[in-house]
Amino acid sequence: MKIGIIGTGIAGLSAAWLFNRAGHRVTLYEKHHTLGMDAHSITFEQKGVALRTDVPPRIFNVTQWPNLLNLYREVGVAFDPIDPSQSFCLIGQPNFLNVDVAYQPQVPDGSEITEQLNQIMNDIARLALGASQDLADGLSAQTTLADYLQRQDYSQAFITDFLYPILASTVCTCSYDSLNAYPAPVILETLLNLFGSQPLLRTKYGAQDVVRRLSRGIDDIRYGTEVCALEPTPSDVRLETTQGKVETFDHLIVATQANQALDILSNPSETECKMLSSFSYDDVPIIVHQDSALMPVKRKKWAHINLLIAPDRRATMCSVLMNRFNPDWQIDQPIIQTINPLIEPQPETIIAQYNLQRPVVNEQSLAGLDLLKLLHQKAGRRIWFCGSYAAEGVPLLESAVLSVLRVANRLLVPIGM
Ligand SMILES: Cc1cc2nc3c(=O)[nH]c(=O)nc-3n(C[C@H](O)[C@H](O)[C@H](O)COP(=O)(O)OP(=O)(O)OC[C@H]3O[C@@H](n4cnc5c(N)ncnc54)[C@H](O)[C@@H]3O)c2cc1C
Repeated sequence: MKIGIIGTGIAGLSAAWLFNRAGHRVTLYEKHHTLGMDAHSITFEQKGVALRTDVPPRIFNVTQWPNLLNLYREVGVAFDPIDPSQSFCLIGQPNFLNVDVAYQPQVPDGSEITEQLNQIMNDIARLALGASQDLADGLSAQTTLADYLQRQDYSQAFITDFLYPILASTVCTCSYDSLNAYPAPVILETLLNLFGSQPLLRTKYGAQDVVRRLSRGIDDIRYGTEVCALEPTPSDVRLETTQGKVETFDHLIVATQANQALDILSNPSETECKMLSSFSYDDVPIIVHQDSALMPVKRKKWAHINLLIAPDRRATMCSVLMNRFNPDWQIDQPIIQTINPLIEPQPETIIAQYNLQRPVVNEQSLAGLDLLKLLHQKAGRRIWFCGSYAAEGVPLLESAVLSVLRVANRLLVPIGM
């Protein structure tokens, strides 16, 4: 078959790898001039040495990311555990919590146990037990996270000083309002997978190595090529690029964000419109810089992942110390990636900045997933939608790969993974 794939994030690339391996003719379209999963990675110089780092830094573990891990193993991506240390503070105040293992916090020996810490620790233990039971009892997806926490009487300290900071600035990277509306079961399942004893991992050689491996053997990659129109005909699908080039394919996999996919379809059906519009996105600003004002006050208390909470406790920024994410770097100067910066770094310290987007999960997006399933079951279908938004769970690399596996199964590609 002749397969066109639009978008080269993890979804487009894993689709390309699967279909190429199954012997189909694959053409990849990417509007960036490099493969999308690596498009924001940066190379910069420190004391004459070129350093490269992923933006954003992506982590995973074996419990929450099983299909991603299978894929990485299959293509030979090496991965290793990251330094799991995490710190929590209010901006400008000393840290109130430093933990050695992210998501499984233990108060270090000798720390002063304040009422705030007591409540946080009690509620972490309570959630770890209660969440499994509530999920086993069939907690409804219509229960929002905010409702669930209120109903179960979780403490304010746990919500504002621990749970929302880690969810809003690391796991889901979304606003507190979006977090309130997240379906509780989606969050609880993810937390249980993170609270386990599996180490957090990173790819050893970064996104550049991942994209090279997934695209190996695919010679038809159209870089810097934006697709602007798609239309099914009775016998194939017609694609048009902004350069005016028209091509036809047996099947087209749209592996862009849902909001971008809607712009590409020339005559979307009512169901396609409804499905794609049900996924909304939050903006995620991210800055790579060297300004220690966006880190905890005391340098000795810097962890790998630092959560700095706004004084009104309605937002959190996450400053990742990239020197720890990349332990092979031989430099003393801190390189920091701040997700959702609540303070502007000094302009002269900025190395790169982006405004990314991340889908949020809510009642509408769950309805969108039901519609997507119906669309993909229709006989004679030739346009397929994949991406982190297109499978259940928190939108992560895992949901993107899962959405691709489903389409590959539907198109009867023999899958050996
Ligand atoms: C700050 C942050 C931190 C994150 N951390 C993690 C993490 O630790 N672990 C994890 O698993 N996930 C993490 N994620 C989520 C993860 O990065 C995404 O879920 C994943 O990269 C999405 O991949 P995708 O292939 O679905 O979409 P994308 O990566 O968005 O790929 C879509 C591609 O389509 C291209 N495109 C769009 N329109 C067109 C067009 N018209 N023509 C041609 N090309 C087009 C785009 O340029 C892009 O390359 C994080 C996300 C953010 C924002």
